[in-house]
Amino acid sequence: MRIPCPHCGERDVNEFRYGGDATKQRPAHGDKDFQTWNAYVFEFDNPKGPHEEFWQHTLGCRQWFRLKRNTATNQILGGGQ
Ligand SMILES: [Zn+2]
Repeated sequence: MRIPCPHCGERDVNEFRYGGDATKQRPAHGDKDFQTWNAYVFEFDNPKGPHEEFWQHTLGCRQWFRLKRNTATNQILGGGQ
């Protein structure tokens, strides 16, 4: 799989680190509800199809960015922002 880094251009997936779901909403800073934080930190969906994710170009510019990818086919649908 090839990933388009917004700073370096298209590179091999081995240069990147997956950073998780980019659609998850972080609880408010002062939120003290244990269940809300527990769900945010430990509960993950496993979507099939188009999905927005965080990626880091660890072996390149080390920048984080959002990427839209079809998780079933690994087709890049947009991003690099
Ligand atoms: Zn890069």
